[in-house]
Amino acid sequence: MKVVASSCLLGFKTRYDGRDKKHDFGGIPADVEYLPFCPEVEAGLGVPREPIELVRMDDGSIHVLGRQTREDFTDRIEACCRAKVAELKRDGVDCFVLKSNSPSCGLESPLYDACGNVVGTAPGIWARIVAAEFPDVPHGMP
Ligand code: SF4
Repeated sequence: MKVVASSCLLGFKTRYDGRDKKHDFGGIPADVEYLPFCPEVEAGLGVPREPIELVRMDDGSIHVLGRQTREDFTDRIEACCRAKVAELKRDGVDCFVLKSNSPSCGLESPLYDACGNVVGTAPGIWARIVAAEFPDVPHGMP
């Protein structure tokens, strides 16, 4: 069984602050293979890096911007996620485990307006693409 999991949950120090969010998955059945994926590292954002956040733009679209610089990382992260989708459609995947609250991996992450006010929640880029491209593959938070 192939499980694609957010890298930080598997103990990789891929978070913006150089830390991990290692999760205790308990007894892992021998037939489970965990495959790490970090969209932000894969997109070349580096570790450590500027935190990013989901922002609702004036036209209603949702972008991922650097918290301080307001640099738009949407296209870079999305391209990397699309490449991963192609790989997984070719090789197969049985389940996704996604880190909560992340603007890339979270199923429901904080959504800000241009002034920095929280206006709701939205899925991160990777979570949104996973749900759209693999609707029949279980995906959730640990
Ligand atoms: S992008 Fe996802 S995998 Fe990478 S550090 Fe953030 S939550 Fe973890």
